Amino acid sequence: MIEIDNVSKWYGPVQVLRDCSTHVARGDVVVVCGPSGSGKSTLIKTVNGLEPFQQGTIRVDGTSVGDPATRLPALRARIGMVFQNFELFPHLSVRDNLTLAQVKVLKRSRDEATANGLKYLERVGLLAHQDKFPAQLSGGQQQRVAIARALAMDPVAMLFDEPTSALDPEMVGEVLDVMTGLAQEGMTMMVVTHEMGFARRVADRVVFMDEGRIVEDSAGEAFFEAPQSARAREFLARII
Ligand code: ADP
Ligand code: MG
Repeated sequence: MIEIDNVSKWYGPVQVLRDCSTHVARGDVVVVCGPSGSGKSTLIKTVNGLEPFQQGTIRVDGTSVGDPATRLPALRARIGMVFQNFELFPHLSVRDNLTLAQVKVLKRSRDEATANGLKYLERVGLLAHQDKFPAQLSGGQQQRVAIARALAMDPVAMLFDEPTSALDPEMVGEVLDVMTGLAQEGMTMMVVTHEMGFARRVADRVVFMDEGRIVEDSAGEAFFEAPQSARAREFLARII
């Protein structure tokens, strides 16, 4: 579903991705981890065209992201993205947050968008909160709304960039539970996270990055049981 081949990226003179190659098969969960500044966010943002890259190719469901002929808004509509800081529209109710892009981008009718949005809101356990504004919800609830909003677009894959890093510890579990459910239902997911318990439970593969390189790309269990590189061993020793 996602193919990343020999991707390199520079910010001005500074190279932040170095010849990165990996893939996410349909229905698989790939966890991306590594030290701060290693390029995890940059890599995941290149997948839905939020960050341009100078070398290599990325294909999502067969569409080449870097091809100038590719319409990025249409591509992004098919890839759900959830960030660290929720990024809900603060001036819109939860219900309107869920429907806006469905109506504007997918041209669904308001009734259809609302029915679909509320279906996903129920799924993340927040149907009773549909009339509230984001500021009236806890961080964990806001992140669950953000996930429901992404799912309401019927994405072919979901990208998560440290979705629980900004949460108080007691709210991390509720968000990981939603993500675990998605994984078990076969959603294709690429997840940047430091939650190694979650990674161990759901990751089909783990990609470990350091200094812009993919240093390790292993089956989940293999990564945790026997990391190949010294950098990954150090990283795991510090984080677990
Ligand atoms: P991670 O998510 O692994 O912490 P990032 O992908 O955010 O790492 O960053 C990778 C590198 O790119 C870092 O050295 C960071 O300072 C640099 N970087 C990120 N965004 C920008 C930007 N907009 N301009 C210049 N450098 C950036
Ligand atoms: Mg990051």
